Amino acid sequence: SGTLYVVATPIGNLQDISLRALEVLKAVDVVAAEDTRHTSGLLSHFAIQKKLVAVHEHNERKAGEQLIQRLLAGGSVALVSDAGTPGISDPGALVVGMAHEAGVRVVPVPGASAVIAAICAAGIVTPGFQFHGFLPASGSQRRLALQALTDVAVTLVFYEAPHRVLDSVADMAAVLGPSRMLTIARELTKTFETIHRLPLLEARAWLEQDANRQRGEFVLLVEPAPAREVEPVDAESQRILALLLDELP
Ligand code: SAM
Repeated sequence: SGTLYVVATPIGNLQDISLRALEVLKAVDVVAAEDTRHTSGLLSHFAIQKKLVAVHEHNERKAGEQLIQRLLAGGSVALVSDAGTPGISDPGALVVGMAHEAGVRVVPVPGASAVIAAICAAGIVTPGFQFHGFLPASGSQRRLALQALTDVAVTLVFYEAPHRVLDSVADMAAVLGPSRMLTIARELTKTFETIHRLPLLEARAWLEQDANRQRGEFVLLVEPAPAREVEPVDAESQRILALLLDELP
């Protein structure tokens, strides 16, 4: 059978397309795109003419079945989303899972993703990160989701829409704590790219100071929860702990 290539495309700056992505997009039989109009713009920028089929969140299973048939018949397919890496807060994972189930070879062609670009530009010293995609749109659901993250000891990364960014940073300050540092990564790789670090307490007011600061695409990163104070162990507990440890193999 053919190969399903999962191809990352730029998140703003078109020069971020990889040489390999261009090669694959030129070579495949068909490009499966989240929005065919959007992707045909990208392809024509690079002078690539290719058959496009739509695979978006509303038809992913049905379109996926047709792609699998094509792949099983020996065709090759490149799967792309509107921007960045397919399957990262974007459709793609369902089709990729179907390909694995059908025994079709899946090949990633890595490239831009807003989450990775934001992390490397934030400069937060952390042993890892948790990526949560978009928080719930409803305020109460959002605060509940944040509540579950208060003790996470690695960087928290979120995508956010411009019309919700004010409410989101206010909720983060209220739930995660006002002194935690936030990094706002806006319009990455684009003309108005902004990377700004400040305590959560100041975030809403900073965004409100200038309406332009609330425009465009956002990644929000919150530094890890401070280490919890460890309760001092009293002498008696230490004695029992030593006895128990002695018993361990
Ligand atoms: N698949 C994409 C990726 O790999 O990054 C993400 C797709 S998701 C539908 C779109 C969201 O990603 C935006 O709302 C924003 O939160 C984030 N995003 C995408 N491009 C961005 C950019 N240039 N700067 C900042 N955030 C961006």
